[in-house]
Amino acid sequence: MERTILHCDCNNFYASVERLYHPELRDRPIAVSGDPELRHGIVLAKSNEAKKLGVKTGHPLWMAKQLCPDIVFVKPHYDLYTHFSQLARNIYSEYTDRVEPYGQDECWLDMTGTAKLLGDGKHIADTIRNRIKSELGITISAGVSFNKVFAKLGSDYKKPDATTVIPFDGFREFVWPLPVSNLIFVGGATTKVLERKCIRTIGELANTDRSTVKSWLGKCGETLWLYANGYDSSQVAKDGEQPTIKSIGNSTTLSRDLVGYDEIKITLMVLSESVAARLRRHNMQCETVQIGIRGTNLSWIERQGRLPIPGCDSTTIYLKALELLVQNYQQGKPVRSLGVRACNLSARQYIQTSFMPSVHRTQRYEKIEDVIDKLRFRFGNKIVQRGIMLSDTGLSTLDPQADHPNLILSSVHTQR
Ligand SMILES: [Mg+2]
Repeated sequence: MERTILHCDCNNFYASVERLYHPELRDRPIAVSGDPELRHGIVLAKSNEAKKLGVKTGHPLWMAKQLCPDIVFVKPHYDLYTHFSQLARNIYSEYTDRVEPYGQDECWLDMTGTAKLLGDGKHIADTIRNRIKSELGITISAGVSFNKVFAKLGSDYKKPDATTVIPFDGFREFVWPLPVSNLIFVGGATTKVLERKCIRTIGELANTDRSTVKSWLGKCGETLWLYANGYDSSQVAKDGEQPTIKSIGNSTTLSRDLVGYDEIKITLMVLSESVAARLRRHNMQCETVQIGIRGTNLSWIERQGRLPIPGCDSTTIYLKALELLVQNYQQGKPVRSLGVRACNLSARQYIQTSFMPSVHRTQRYEKIEDVIDKLRFRFGNKIVQRGIMLSDTGLSTLDPQADHPNLILSSVHTQR
């Protein structure tokens, strides 16, 4: 049976929500950003008017101002975005129990087999789009197709406030002339590799030999080849259904650059604490720690290293992350974004005794953190804090146990 998959994407999500609370900014170009008073502030999201003039997420504020002199900078309100994201998901859930979020402002919906009851995919997409507009006051763009990859492509194809259908019959005519970078997971680096092989469109990728693409890009290349040919059979996860966890990670998008090891260390610790707490919540441990660093040139590098024994405490994860950072990042260079990820997960094991000092140490840390988890659960996250959080950098008000420390980090002001 041919599937009916929708992908719904809130347009300029942060900026649209901010506008609801600042109607005076309705027709003005705006950017949600770090504090404009800070030298290192950057654009976190922008409205269509600003986008048209070339303003991009990640641009420093001075550059945004240069491109768009009338731009208004607005501070982010992450609690509001979470609230609106939930409201949108509530509406989606009225139509199907298969609603799979992809980031905060995007969701896939599986509407297979509901045509008789609710109308075809386009009709449902239009209905949902109109409801979100009238009930929440923001717009979405929707893609309708027979798989998740093309549904996502459809919602990106025309925005804001539009529905795009990519039917099974004729998907080649629609999809193949598009730039290969329109395909999900084809980022800057992959685009460059493909460009060097003279592959510029999705069709050119689809019509290259499968094994050739695999030889250029490995397993990922093979997956992209399948996507380009319309062979994506991945399911839309059921509401509340937990996909098997392969890794647990957190990253920051900061409203300013981090400068110097002290600030970087605190941020790494915040990230490590949240990753470790989530590992313990799932009763898992990790064998590998991965870090990601984005500098001011916006390129993202990833490095990973193995732990001597699997662990789930933040000190072990933090020390590994710091070691990787010191080895791979030139001291003094500003950092725009940082990420810590726990990989190679397994069920948490309690080893009884060991003569290895590192095992003893890790187990002691884990025991301490189990107690801290309980304290925080009963009395709130601030009941226990690390000494490093209290150092005078202006980052000390971070909440290390927030699931998304980026949310808090981004709104932190620095005393300089
Ligand atoms: Mg969006």
